[in-house]
Amino acid sequence: MTRSVIVLGAGMVGVSTALHLQARGHDVLLLDRKAPGRETSYGNAGLIQREAVEPYPLPREPADLLQHAFGLNAAVSYHWRALPSLLPRLAAYWYHSSPKRHARISRDWSTLIAHATSEHAEWIVSAGAQDLVKESGFRLAFRHAQSYAKGVAKARHYHDTYGVRFEALDSDALSAAEPALQQRFAGGVHWVDPWAVNDPGELVARYAALYQRRGGRLVSGDASTLRQTSHGWQVITAEGPQQASDVVVALGPWADDLIRPLGYHLPLFVKRGYHRHYQVERQLEMAVLCADDGVMLAPMSAGLRITTGAELALRDAPPSPVQLAMAEKVAARALALGAPLEATPWIGARPCTTDMKPVIGAAARHPGLWFNFGHAHQGFTLGPASGRLLADLFDSQTPFIKAEPFAPARFGA
Ligand SMILES: Cc1cc2nc3c(=O)[nH]c(=O)nc-3n(C[C@H](O)[C@H](O)[C@H](O)COP(=O)(O)OP(=O)(O)OC[C@H]3O[C@@H](n4cnc5c(N)ncnc54)[C@H](O)[C@@H]3O)c2cc1C
Repeated sequence: MTRSVIVLGAGMVGVSTALHLQARGHDVLLLDRKAPGRETSYGNAGLIQREAVEPYPLPREPADLLQHAFGLNAAVSYHWRALPSLLPRLAAYWYHSSPKRHARISRDWSTLIAHATSEHAEWIVSAGAQDLVKESGFRLAFRHAQSYAKGVAKARHYHDTYGVRFEALDSDALSAAEPALQQRFAGGVHWVDPWAVNDPGELVARYAALYQRRGGRLVSGDASTLRQTSHGWQVITAEGPQQASDVVVALGPWADDLIRPLGYHLPLFVKRGYHRHYQVERQLEMAVLCADDGVMLAPMSAGLRITTGAELALRDAPPSPVQLAMAEKVAARALALGAPLEATPWIGARPCTTDMKPVIGAAARHPGLWFNFGHAHQGFTLGPASGRLLADLFDSQTPFIKAEPFAPARFGA
């Protein structure tokens, strides 16, 4: 039966959800306060990460924890003053990161990420976005022989367990494959299956344009005006009040602002990240992750985008330049880095849950209220697959993968 539905948030997750619901004949209204794909889905490294078959646990080795705690590594940094309020979330994240629990979570997670590229494929063509996407994979570069050996062993494990493909590159092979690298790395791993997008925000915009070409409505408005009515839900938009029987919250790192007042206290937090574009004498063939430092070098249409690892801080705290400064040094060692192309870095926040899995499904206590957020490091990858799962549940169809591991109910009522 056709229903009316408002999708709140036009990042990769919201736009993908809107496209799936529309394809099933529902009357969809997509709402954002900005243009589609201008927030987290704009600023990421642009990788459709088919290889990310396990979510990122919190390090549990004492040496790794100390490195992170004292900011000796660009992969993770902390705002010390935020730690007291973040501590309950980090403790729960640490709990779920135990090898046994992480293995169970990875089994569930891998069922969703298995559909990463296949779920994007048709829309890339229908949206005319082939010019943005390269099916090249990306590479990891390791500074130390020991980390290279560990990286190859992990890649082999992922290949044997989940079937993702990789190629190990010794030092010479990596230099030959990436002539722009001036640093001599110990070796590399080429993940073959992921796809790379040279303007992630533009891909979301093209998906949104596809949704509109297919008759979907996109409006400007503030999600915080959402109210439950006797017939369903109402939101105030630039075109006046809009009603629907159902509403999907796809607000990424802002989801908590909306659901908390409705009584849903889910264990959400953010890992902030930065990027900036730089001129380079010679562009990389494909994205390279300086794996020992957690710094991604991603060739984009705008220049070389350096993206940082995770900053554990409050979402709206002022930006702190520490991590990007560290990342810049790592990049300048790796290749001939030119001047930055923007006056200030971009900052965004990865929407995270303590058990590392997104929240996809019906809210427990409000009929017609649906959740689709919490995709952490891989929301750009997982938007289309998550949108499909949400749409299956919305239509009470047998979901294309097991839905319980992602259900909001796993956190209790
Ligand atoms: C540095 C960095 C690198 C990353 N690299 C990758 C990568 O390579 N691959 C990958 O898969 N993922 C990556 N990610 C993660 C990925 O970017 C996110 O998981 C994903 O973008 C989340 O998408 P979303 O649609 O949930 O959120 P968003 O894209 O943030 O969308 C939420 C939308 O809600 C809107 N909104 C918020 N509040 C309101 C309101 N009150 N009213 C109206 N609208 C509102 C916002 O304007 C926004 O458009 C990276 C993240 C970072 C920070």
